[in-house]
Order: sequence, then C-alpha cells, then structure tokens
Amino acid sequence: MNLTGKQIIGFETKASGHRNFQGVQAASGEALPQVFVEATAEEAEEALTKASAAFKVYRNVSDEERVNFLNAIAEEILAIGDVLIQTACAESGLLEARITGERGRTIGQIQAFANFISNPSWKREIVDEAMPERQPLPKPRLVQKQIPLGPTVVFGASNFPLAFSVAGGDTLSALAAGCPVVFKAHPAHPNTCDLVGQAIQKAAQKTGMPDGTFSLLHAQGHEIGGYLVKHDRTKAVAFTGSYRGGKALFDLAVRRQVPIPVYAEMGSVNPVYLFSDRLAKQGEALADAFSQSICLGVGQFCTNPGLIVMLEKDRGFLTSLATKLDQMPLGTFLTAGIKQSFEHGFNTLNHHPATQRLTASESAAPSLFSTSVREALAHPEVLEEVFGPCTVAVVCQDLAEMSAFTEQLPGQLTATIQAEPSDLAHLVELIDEVSQKVGRILLNGFPTGVEVSPAMVHGGPFPATSDARSTSVGTEAIYRFTRPVCWQNF
Ligand code: NAP
Repeated sequence: MNLTGKQIIGFETKASGHRNFQGVQAASGEALPQVFVEATAEEAEEALTKASAAFKVYRNVSDEERVNFLNAIAEEILAIGDVLIQTACAESGLLEARITGERGRTIGQIQAFANFISNPSWKREIVDEAMPERQPLPKPRLVQKQIPLGPTVVFGASNFPLAFSVAGGDTLSALAAGCPVVFKAHPAHPNTCDLVGQAIQKAAQKTGMPDGTFSLLHAQGHEIGGYLVKHDRTKAVAFTGSYRGGKALFDLAVRRQVPIPVYAEMGSVNPVYLFSDRLAKQGEALADAFSQSICLGVGQFCTNPGLIVMLEKDRGFLTSLATKLDQMPLGTFLTAGIKQSFEHGFNTLNHHPATQRLTASESAAPSLFSTSVREALAHPEVLEEVFGPCTVAVVCQDLAEMSAFTEQLPGQLTATIQAEPSDLAHLVELIDEVSQKVGRILLNGFPTGVEVSPAMVHGGPFPATSDARSTSVGTEAIYRFTRPVCWQNF
C-alpha cells in the first residue's frame, strides 16, 4: 500500500491545502519522507457534508452488512502487513513486540464489535405490550430501540498509534452503532494514520458502504479540530488524549448553539493504595512489579500508576521501589513535545517545596517522589499527571487520613488496592470511598493493562473523562453513539 499524504474524504483523496508537514522518527527526530498536506476548512466541510449524506443510508444498513464492513476493516489492516508495524514503530518509538501486540488488540477489538452487533439484542429493544382493556385508560404498545446519533468526529491519542487511533475503539464503536466517522489524524503518526485510513476506505468500498461513511483529515494546528467540533453537521465527538485537549474540545461543544455529547477520555494518575500485610508478604516482588508497571511503554499510558497512597509505617517500601526505578532505563518518548513535558513535570516536582525526591537521578529519569497528605492537599499541582515514568507517593498517618485524602481526589480512570485479606477487613469504608472516584477498581494487580471485554469500564468521573457514565473500551462503548427512541402504537 502506498502512502498518499492526502485527506481521505469518503472514497476520494484530496490535498488542496498549502500547508505541509512530515511525520518524524521518534528515536532520531529525523523527518520521514512522505509529505502530508494539512486539511483546509473546505475539505473538512466536504467530509462532514458527505458524512451527513452517508448517514441517511448508513443508519439503515443492516447489522449483517455492518458486520461485513467491520470484518473487512480488520482484513484490510492485516493485509497492510509488516509495513504497518514498521511505520508505527518508527513514528512512535514503541518496540516492535508492543506494536505487533497492539495490532492484535486492534483486530480483536474490531471483531468484538462485529460479534456484538451480530446479536440483535445489542439494540436493547424493550417492548411494553398494549393493554387495550386497561381502565381508566387503555395502554398503547411501546417499543424502545437504540438508534445512531449521526456523524461523529473522532480524535485519537499519540500513545496508541493503532488501538486508540484511526481504527481504534472510538472509531469502531461509532461505525458499529451506525454513525459515519470523520477522524482527525494525530500529527505524531500521520504515516500510520494514512495506511489505516486507506484500509478503512477500501473496506467501505468493497462492502458497499455509502461514500462518506469514513473520512480522515490531517492537521497540525487546532483549527481543523475546533472547526469539526463546532460544525452543525457533527452530532457527537470522541476524544482520547490530554486533559487540555479534551477540555478545550468539550468547552467548544457545549458552547455550540446546539450542544452535542463529547466523550473525552483524558489523563489520570491512577492511585495505588498499598497496605501493611501485603507489603510485609510481597514487598520485594511488589517493588519489582511496580517499577515495571511505572516504566511500561516509557510510562506513556493513561493508566500509568502515577500516585501511591500508603501509611507512614510502611514507608520502607519506597526505598526498595526507588532502588528498582534507579536501575530502569528511560527509553524513547513518543514525541519531542512529550519528552519536553516529562522533563518539565520532573523539574517541577524536583524543585517543589512540598515533595522529596527518592530516586537518585537529578535529571529526568524514572522517578519517585514523596509528600504528605497535608502538603498534597495544599499544593494539588503535585498530583497532576506527569506523562511518563514518574510517581508521587502520598504518605498518610492513618486510615482516617487516607480516607480524608481520598475524598479530595479528583476523578480517575483506575485505582488499585494492594492488600491481603487481613488488610481488607479494615478497608470496607475506604474501598467504598475509592469506588466513588474511579471507573475501574483493581485488587492486587496493576492498572496498566486494559482488557477489551464487555464488563470493562475505561472511563471515570471528571477530569478522567467528560462523562462518567460511559466507557471507551469494550463493547459497551457503542452506547456513547446511540440514543433511545420510543415507538408508540406502531
Ligand atoms: P493530545 O495532545 O491531547 O492530542 C490528542 C489529539 O487531540 C491530537 O490530534 C491533537 O492535535 C488534538 N488536540 C489537542 N488539543 C486540541 C485542541 N485544543 N483543539 C483541537 N485539537 C486538539 O494527547 P496526546 O499527547 O496524544 O496523548 C497523551 C495524553 O493522552 C496523556 O495525558 C494520556 O494520559 C492521555 N490518554 C488518555 C487515554 C484514555 O483512554 N483516557 C488513552 C491514551 C492517552 P494536535 O497534536 O495537533 O494538538
């Protein structure tokens, strides 16, 4: 498959703009050869006009035909072959094994949505039979069904160039629901986006989907993204990325004359609560596993464990963890910008009067800082996500202080409890408190892996996401792009 460097607008490719950019090799900073032309407002308009026209047909395409389309997307992605793996590795700096695994996850996710909509129960039809004889008034027959919202604009994140990008869970759940998608390509991996975008375009053509069911636009600045979100043809937005980006797009959407739902999955520090009996039993192994989890993918995971909550009497564990982290390499960041923000975050914590550095390196490296509850609450900036391998431990005097701290925590994607049954006996209230803050609560594991399965919740209260009632991973993600309609007396 050849790269186009152009916008994919339904079944066409276009490049009428005058601003160009190139993808960059994450490891060397060198530009990759393909030149990309940034989308113009006219091209964005055309993509949305086509998506609106396509919606009239696509929403009535049978589930079976949509299943064929989704399966064809998976086949076309696999047909790209090794060049997709090499391209994603070059643009992201992530290792081949990781990207190969991520492609498997992406294909598995597509198949999961195809299987899900193969069963008509996905429409959650509710039938209330008529009661014509009911007194004092007869009851009509009522049928509730889910219908698709309409053209959906999707933004992907840089840290999952396949699974949270062009053919990621957001695009696939919207397409499965019956919504055409206009995807804003991430400028950190335009070549990967181009290849996967062409795969979706081919799959749509081969399976007879209407022109405009899928479009992909390239842009480096924020204007095109803002334009798409504000456009009155857009009926929903899905975003995965930073708090700053997600909140900016959410604010644009609610200020529209006709506001629309924005499902923004943003950053999180994912607290891990450590308890005494667990540490006494597993301390060394935990320090090892914890340091691996912090450094996985250079810490560039939205589920990275960036916050430890523990008791003063267990502080010794932090020394073991810091020693392990001191032995871990830093690795290649996804982009120069993310590397710079990591250095900035590290320096902020390193010079902050409320934190103490426990790892050895005085410059940006896998790192561990500690602080007290009082200091953390007085300086909430020390609890902000540092995207990369960096964790802050908040040391509590007792369980009451731990509960009080938890009550003040902002919303999170996950929280983890590391505890033995003997610890758990004292934690019922605390766990209840923690569950109020998160989309997923884990016992004795690490939050970094996110299973793609129906029960998964990859979401959580603001600021982890803009809507705590939804998930962006797993088949339930489809209901972000549907709404119920009641058919009375039909
Ligand atoms: P990002 O910088 O927010 O970028 C995401 C996308 O949104 C890009 O296409 C970006 O375009 C666009 N964008 C950002 N700000 C915008 C604005 N104000 N207006 C219009 N478009 C805007 O995120 P990232 O650096 O790729 O990803 C890292 C972050 O994502 C971390 O915080 C991580 O925790 C989070 N993340 C969350 C999840 C989750 O499921 N919750 C998953 C993965 C990552 P430009 O590049 O042109 O700005």
